[in-house]
Amino acid sequence: MTAVPTPSRTYDLSFARWVRENVEGGDKLNMCMQCGMCSGSCPNGQEMDNGPRKLFMMVRAGLKDEVLSSSTLWECTSCYRCYVRCPRGIPVTTIVQHLAALAAKEGYAPKNKVENYFFSKAFWWSAESFGKTDERLVTMKYFFSFGFGEGIRKALDNLKIALGMIKAGRMHIGLPHTIKNKSQLKAMIAKAKELEQKG
Ligand code: SF4
Ligand code: SF4
Repeated sequence: MTAVPTPSRTYDLSFARWVRENVEGGDKLNMCMQCGMCSGSCPNGQEMDNGPRKLFMMVRAGLKDEVLSSSTLWECTSCYRCYVRCPRGIPVTTIVQHLAALAAKEGYAPKNKVENYFFSKAFWWSAESFGKTDERLVTMKYFFSFGFGEGIRKALDNLKIALGMIKAGRMHIGLPHTIKNKSQLKAMIAKAKELEQKG
């Protein structure tokens, strides 16, 4: 993936091109006819500063900072109403959610939203790697997502709780539990990703 460009002027298409090439579903954005069905159908639209229709126009206009800091990215609940209603078959939810992930990576997300992003990444990593969520590894991965020093600090802050859980038999020590046939799980996830890409 190339770095996110910084458009030099309004209507600089470099950001739109970048979105098309790097955001899931972004290649379909140029089919948006600005009908507003997505924003009009959104049950959480009143909490968003822009809504998906306007957000997509802002992508076209090269408004990178405004797009990546838009509350639309964080208020989307992934209900998929916009996705199923878009007359052009644009995967609105996928685009909004992937833009949110990129915004978090680029440091645009509000702090509490980054926490959600880091936690969901850690959770998914464990589920995909072991077929189960190992609370110890999920927690450690989440803590160290904030950087090494912050990871140590968070781990020490929670050490007493962890030791208490081990003592009470609520947290096992040793290798993580895994499912029996991880290759089947990996094949299912790969297929799901393939289907999602096709939209
Ligand atoms: S419903 Fe589809 S075509 Fe209409 S504004 Fe939204 S994304 Fe664009
Ligand atoms: S998926 Fe997100 S943007 Fe689309 S209608 Fe639902 S909340 Fe609104």
